Amino acid sequence: MNCEKCGGDMFPAKIFRLSGCLVSLGFLILVISLGCIGMVGFITLVGTGSSVAVSDEMEAEARASTLEELEEIKAPQAVIHEFAETAAVSPETLAGLSSDTRRDVERAVSSYSASLAGVAIGTGLFAFVGGTFAMVLFFASIPTLIVGFLLVLRKKIIQCADCGFYLDRA
Ligand SMILES: [Zn+2]
Repeated sequence: MNCEKCGGDMFPAKIFRLSGCLVSLGFLILVISLGCIGMVGFITLVGTGSSVAVSDEMEAEARASTLEELEEIKAPQAVIHEFAETAAVSPETLAGLSSDTRRDVERAVSSYSASLAGVAIGTGLFAFVGGTFAMVLFFASIPTLIVGFLLVLRKKIIQCADCGFYLDRA
C-alpha cells in the first residue's frame, strides 16, 4: 500500500490513542493502583500471620504471669499444676481451698481472663482496621486500574515511512 500524500511505502504500526501527557498520567495511575493492589495482598498476608502470632505470644505471657502470681500467693501445687495445664481452676478445686487461698486464687485467675479478653479485643480490632483498610484500598484500586488502562490504550495504524502520514487499521 502506498501513502496518499507522498506515494511512499506504508507499514503497520501502533500508536497511543491519547496525547502524551494523558498517556504518562495513565502509566502513573497504573503503577499506583498496581502498587496498591500489591500492598493489599501484603497487608492481608502479614496481618493475618502476625495477629495470630501476637495473640499466641500474649496468651502465653498472660498465663506465665498468672502462674507467677499463683506461686507468690503460695497456692497449693495441685492448683498451680491444674492452671498450667488447663489455664483454669475448676470449681471443685476451688471448693477444696481455704477461703483466703480461694479468694487469692480467684483473683489471679480472673486477671488472666481479663488480659486474655484484652488480647482478643486488641487482635480483633487490629484485624478489623487492617481488613477495612485493605478492602477500601482494593476497591478503590480497581476503577483506577481501569482508567489507567484506558489512558494507555493503543491503536493499530498503517504509517508512511517517509512522511509519517497514517491511517487507522482495522
Ligand atoms: Zn507519505
